[in-house]
Amino acid sequence: MVVLGLVAVHSIARAVQWHITHDLCKYAVCSMPCEVKPRFVVLYGSQKGQAQSIAEGVAEEAEEHGLTAELCCLKQNERYNLEKERAPVVFIVSTTGDGEPPDNALQFVRRIKKKTLPTDHYTHLCYALLALGDTNYANFCNCGKTIESRLQELGAKQFYAAGYADDGVGLEVVVDPWLEGLWKAIKAALSKMASDRADYSTGEAGDSSKDAPDSSVPDVQLSLLSITDQQNCKSANSSVETVSTFSSADSSSVSASTTQTAVTDPGPASPLGNDRLASQFHDAASVSTSKPGTQTTDAGVPLVALAASLIFSLPPLSDSSLNVPALPPPYLDVSLQEVDLMEQTDGLMIKDTLFEVPVSKAVQLTRGDSVKTALLLELDVSAYPMMTYQPGDSFDVFCPNRASEVEDMLHRLALHDKRNHQVNVSLRTDTKKKAAQVPPYIPQNISLLYLFTWCLEIRSVPKKAFLRALVEHTGDSVQRRRLQELCSKQGAADYNLYVRDQSLSVLELLAAFPSCSPPLSLLIEHLPKLQPRPYSAASSGLRHPGKLHFVFNVVEFPACSLRPAGKQGLCTGWLFDLISPALVFSGMDESSSTPDLPKIHVKLRPNCSFRPPPDLSVPFIMVGPGTGVAPFIGFLQQREQEKQEKPEATFGETWLFFGCRHRDRDFLFREELEGFVSSGTLSHLKVCFSRDDQEEEGRPKYVQDNLLINRQHVMEVLLQQKGYLFVCGDAENMAKDVNNTLIEMIKAELQVDQLDAMKTLAGLREEKRYLQDIWG
Ligand code: FAD
Repeated sequence: MVVLGLVAVHSIARAVQWHITHDLCKYAVCSMPCEVKPRFVVLYGSQKGQAQSIAEGVAEEAEEHGLTAELCCLKQNERYNLEKERAPVVFIVSTTGDGEPPDNALQFVRRIKKKTLPTDHYTHLCYALLALGDTNYANFCNCGKTIESRLQELGAKQFYAAGYADDGVGLEVVVDPWLEGLWKAIKAALSKMASDRADYSTGEAGDSSKDAPDSSVPDVQLSLLSITDQQNCKSANSSVETVSTFSSADSSSVSASTTQTAVTDPGPASPLGNDRLASQFHDAASVSTSKPGTQTTDAGVPLVALAASLIFSLPPLSDSSLNVPALPPPYLDVSLQEVDLMEQTDGLMIKDTLFEVPVSKAVQLTRGDSVKTALLLELDVSAYPMMTYQPGDSFDVFCPNRASEVEDMLHRLALHDKRNHQVNVSLRTDTKKKAAQVPPYIPQNISLLYLFTWCLEIRSVPKKAFLRALVEHTGDSVQRRRLQELCSKQGAADYNLYVRDQSLSVLELLAAFPSCSPPLSLLIEHLPKLQPRPYSAASSGLRHPGKLHFVFNVVEFPACSLRPAGKQGLCTGWLFDLISPALVFSGMDESSSTPDLPKIHVKLRPNCSFRPPPDLSVPFIMVGPGTGVAPFIGFLQQREQEKQEKPEATFGETWLFFGCRHRDRDFLFREELEGFVSSGTLSHLKVCFSRDDQEEEGRPKYVQDNLLINRQHVMEVLLQQKGYLFVCGDAENMAKDVNNTLIEMIKAELQVDQLDAMKTLAGLREEKRYLQDIWG
């Protein structure tokens, strides 16, 4: 709390007068001596929780800056009122799918996009915006950009330049400096608003423009809030701690802050408890700790690193003072109850909105010597009319964490003997976390084993806030210092190199830092929800009534120094293990009797725009290399059925651009595609092989090369015949390359420059005639 008595008298007078005369200013003012806490609003729209957790971080840090933050999700429109809001508003929003707003921001975006809103609708509003996105997707930060441009059209004033953070290179590259500058900007905005209002109320407001903050606000000198700077000097130490160099790292705060019950906290420096896990890191640790040098362990053993690694740093980082993030306030009480919940462990419990469907067929589409393994699964959805889908839809597959990793985690936390105990999670009554809540994805009455199997993404890459929290539960000072480095500003490059780029899981991290023994509550606070994995339907219900096909590559994480054995993707690896006993190869007798196939939990995710044109006469082009061909098999099966049902109808041309490595190894759906060509369902099939045909000059290697070769036709379909272009598959390279190629084609076709070509493509996207269904 900021004591108003410390403020310069002039500022007190202004602040109090402002408050009395303008009831819309909601500063908390008590009777003298007063406490003032300037207020601002944080609104977030978040699909996977990243924007939400950044927004929560802002709200939590506010107090340390002498401010009060009101935190709301954009969908909670009963909790905020932008039509009347006079305090600064900070928007933090992500983008999902094909540039769509996250589900919880959808209504808000619709509301502000209403054409009936007057252009002065938000002239009173003063805002800053942080957008999260991924440049691997074409509509980078589209939700943030949409909100930003619409707010501006409606007269709102920006008090701090918008940040556009790119998950493709690491959100923190933009997020960290943006957050660092935010506080000064909010205070400047508040100060400017306060002085404008005070001037207005004392009759100095001859100029109406003073009513609204202008975009130069961040440059305004602080006056009203100069008091908070004193406060901030103190609080800055807690919000961004400065940790001095290695020698000063001690473990006092470990014992001070490990206040969990014996059940939830195995205590600092517990033994690793799992030899298999420990052995993965044994070599790295022994290299780092066997050579004497500049650092010393708690046991007095001097250390020097031969090379930096996850667990060891080199100068200048190892000698540097560190700025580490504020310690996230704990907010959950977790206890384990000795109720045996053994029967729970097998299946997913939240079944109301999900369907448990049998796998009825499993086919390997690629040859054994193919680099990637592509599988087709057929699901029997006939028992569930709610699973009726259209080509272009996708659906979620709910997969558990790997049993061996769950076991490792339980051992690592020294909780293995309590695996069937009931987990009770409640809010700490004394928590300082804003808007704290028990994670809604953790059901009541679950066992510990269930929690780690179905609720938490135990493979998630630990965020810096988590690393910061782990420091408090790490006994060894070398390890503490390294964790501090990894979450510090100075250690950002090491974090990217050893944590983010390696997709390092929490379990792998804990194995590398054996003296770290976090309580269960900390894992529940920091591990995200285990997300289902979406897959595109690769069939049409018209062709396969009651059946749903999908296709996927088994994701392989290559071996690296931290993970000598490599690993498979969570869901694709799980599916592969599940169906391997019944797997048949493409072309073999797929109807032959197969052993009992398992059931899996799925949920439909309808997609309203990624659909074949409703007008059958409109031509369309499909670009889908590799497993990206999946939805187009559904499109073509549907088209073939429609052709049979409506022989008199006019059908537009269809084009498919497919690509893979080798004609003989991974040409997915070859026979079916050639069949579509023979039946006239597919007018043009353009295929290329990136690793074959190398000797022949000029051969197209990638789908975009084939697009260029067929430039004239593609442009005619898109620009003259008002046709559609669909792209599906890899977001990282293919979708970007196709996008760039389309821009080049438009430039050449229309004889326009880059900017105009980009505008033309953006126009096609707006008209929903250039559509993407891509994943990274
Ligand atoms: P995870 O364990 O989740 O790991 C995947 C993550 O690891 C990704 O973030 C990826 O960037 C990263 N990664 C992948 N390979 C490596 C590597 N070698 N080294 C390091 N990191 C790596 N997939 C399909 O195959 N077919 C589809 O039809 C399909 N449709 C989709 C539709 C939609 C709308 C979306 C959003 C995605 C779709 N996906 C599809 C992707 C799919 O949902 C999964 O992401 C994918 O199958 C991997 O899941 P996983 O659990 O096996 O991998």
